Amino acid sequence: MANFSGPAERDARCCAFCTREMPPQSGRGRRRRYCDRRCQSAAERVRIRRRLALGVMVEQQALKAEMEASCT
Ligand SMILES: [Zn+2]
Repeated sequence: MANFSGPAERDARCCAFCTREMPPQSGRGRRRRYCDRRCQSAAERVRIRRRLALGVMVEQQALKAEMEASCT
């Protein structure tokens, strides 16, 4: 294959959490997205928290809309 080095390829070599450059991966298989397990678990936690926050926000907005609708 040709030596391809696009922006996506470059991003894949950086940790998706701390964005530090990762050491070259040895062997084949799934490409790692994080430099170590700490970043992986931290990113996972952020993702879960974000999803929860988003769910709460949507819930609050729905509640607010409901309250406003019943007030007027
Ligand atoms: Zn990292």
